[in-house]
Amino acid sequence: MTKVIDCVAIGEEIMKEIVKETEELKAKGITPGIATLLVGDDFGSKMYRGQVEKFCDEAGFNYVNENPPEDASEADVIAIVEKLNADKSVSGILPLRPFPEQISDTVVINSIDVNKDIDCFHPFNMGKLALGEATFPPATPAAVIEILERYARKEENMDPKDFFEGAEIVVVGHSNIVGKPVAFLALNRNATTSVTHVFTSMKGNLAKHTAGADILIVAAGKADLIGPDLVKEGAIVIDVGINRVKVVDEKGEPVLNEKGKQKTKTVGDVSFDAVKDKTRAISPVPKGVGSVTNRMLMKNALRACKISNGLL
Ligand code: NAP
Repeated sequence: MTKVIDCVAIGEEIMKEIVKETEELKAKGITPGIATLLVGDDFGSKMYRGQVEKFCDEAGFNYVNENPPEDASEADVIAIVEKLNADKSVSGILPLRPFPEQISDTVVINSIDVNKDIDCFHPFNMGKLALGEATFPPATPAAVIEILERYARKEENMDPKDFFEGAEIVVVGHSNIVGKPVAFLALNRNATTSVTHVFTSMKGNLAKHTAGADILIVAAGKADLIGPDLVKEGAIVIDVGINRVKVVDEKGEPVLNEKGKQKTKTVGDVSFDAVKDKTRAISPVPKGVGSVTNRMLMKNALRACKISNGLL
């Protein structure tokens, strides 16, 4: 029987744990806080910023919104980062990218205090992740691992350590944000980890790897990349992808909304309906990994807060 993993419930469970820990810190006179840094008004980044603010409010965190204009200079932005580095009410700094072209990602990220780098952008923290000593595992890869750990305990009655050790894990996608760090997190748990990417597909070798996976983690940003022929019977599939696609009827004709415009919907990289019954467990999209990602960012902010107050 396939288990559709309830990532929303996992996200809510983590949030309760965060609220409890925050109350304990507040009883000691300490309040965790997150600052977002958005330069200009990129739509996607603004949506993400709003979510972070909402979750900070729910958890009782401080929240600081830094939003210099689109034409801010690199020096202006660095000055803001330095101010946030020194601000004791801010435990973690989240730069929201893309930045406008006059601002270098590398320069801004390298100027963030490594102890406030809660989404693991700084090369120092990426290096620690590669060494298996991550202080702040990046939010999306950490969400994937957290989902698998909670699934192992609850559904398979297994210690996550035994669940990961020797498991054949295949990651699709090798971006610095998702694919590479999630592969490191799996490898650091002693899984036999393979990473595939667009060149694997171009050589016609994707199925050869994915069809052998006990655990398949997909983060390519390509709707319907993974069909049933690419999945092993009884595999656990975690779909990180988020894609907006057009809705069509059974004849392939566009379905229109009440305003006469083409209807769209959000899907992952895995053809959920076609793949589901072949799996032991699968995460859906929407209401999947994304329901846990922000909570992992908040867990990192709590950790940063404890570090800066000498509690860790
Ligand atoms: P990205 O930077 O575009 O990376 C995509 C990766 O997939 C690249 O490594 C690319 O390989 C690989 N790829 C592309 N087409 C492929 C194919 N046909 N076969 C095999 N590999 C292929 O994207 P990202 O930032 O890692 O994000 C990946 C997906 O996750 C996106 O849909 C994004 O929206 C979603 N996402 C979700 C969350 C969440 O919380 N749920 C968070 C972040 C991202 P090459 O580099 O070799 O081209």
